[in-house]
Amino acid sequence: MLRFVFAAFLSICVLPTMSSEALAQEADYRLEEVKPDLYRFVAGSYRSMVWVTDDGIVVLDTLNTEAAKWLKTELDEHFDVPVRYVVYSHSHYDHAYGGQVFADPSVTFIAHDLTRSNFEMSKADTHFPELTFSEDFALNLGGETLSLRYHGPNNGFGSVSMLFEDQDVIFVVDWAIVGRMPWTNLEGYNIEGMIRSTKAILELEWDTFVGGHAEIGERADVERYLAYLEALYGAVRDGMLDGKDLETLQAEIRLDEFSDFKQYDAWLADNIGGVYRQIADQSYILKRPEVAGE
Ligand SMILES: [Zn+2]
Repeated sequence: MLRFVFAAFLSICVLPTMSSEALAQEADYRLEEVKPDLYRFVAGSYRSMVWVTDDGIVVLDTLNTEAAKWLKTELDEHFDVPVRYVVYSHSHYDHAYGGQVFADPSVTFIAHDLTRSNFEMSKADTHFPELTFSEDFALNLGGETLSLRYHGPNNGFGSVSMLFEDQDVIFVVDWAIVGRMPWTNLEGYNIEGMIRSTKAILELEWDTFVGGHAEIGERADVERYLAYLEALYGAVRDGMLDGKDLETLQAEIRLDEFSDFKQYDAWLADNIGGVYRQIADQSYILKRPEVAGE
C-alpha cells in the first residue's frame, strides 16, 4: 500500500542554486530510513523526522521554507497517505520555520504551550500550532504512539523529547546531541536544564537516539554526553567557588576524555564560557558572600 520505493529516496540529493557556500551546504537534502516507517530528514547540518503510519504522516520540525518544500514534494511523490500532523520540537526559528508549507485545514500543528506563546510574543514567521499541551502528550496514529514530553527549560521555549514508542526511537533537538560538543557558548541554552532533561530521557525506554544535529546514537552515547555536561558544569562551578576568573578556567579546564567529540578543540573554551555565564547569572555564585569575600 503506502510503502514506497526506498532506493529512490537514497538516490535523491539536490543542490539548489544558493548565494553562499553555507546555504548551499544547508540545502543538501536526503531522507534516511531509521526504523520501519520512521525516517530522518537530513538538511545540511539539520535533522528532522518523518513518521509514516497507515492513517497519515507526521512531520517533526519543518526547518525552513526551502527544506519544507523539498520534503513535501518527496512525501507527496513517494507515499499514498497525506500529512496529518506537524510537531515542533521547540520555538527556535532554525527548526520551526517553514511551517506554512504544510499548513492546511486537514493538518494539525502540535507544540508545547511555551513554544506557542513564544511564537506569539516574538511574532515568529511560521504556522502557529493549533494543538498545545503543558506536560506530556500522546499522539496515537495508525495503531502506534508518539509520546511528547516536556522536561523543563533546556533550550529555547517548550523543547520536548519525542519518543516513538513502537520503534524505541527518541528524537531530541539541540539539548542532547551525539558525537559533537554542545553548541559554542550555549546561547539560548540552560545548562542545568540540559543535564536534568538528558537524565530524564535516559529514564525512558528506547534504543536509538536521533538528534536535531549530528549523529544517530545509542543509549551509551547519550550517557557519555551527559557525563560530559556534568564534568563541564562541575569543573566550572568548582573553579568559580575557588575564586578563579573565566580566563583562568578557560586556560586550565581540560576534559580530554571527550576529545573525540566533534568541535572539542574549537568549542571547549566557549562551552566553559557559557556555563560560567549561566552560573553567574542564575546562581549568583560570584555574589555569594563566601565567594565575593564580603
Ligand atoms: Zn539546532
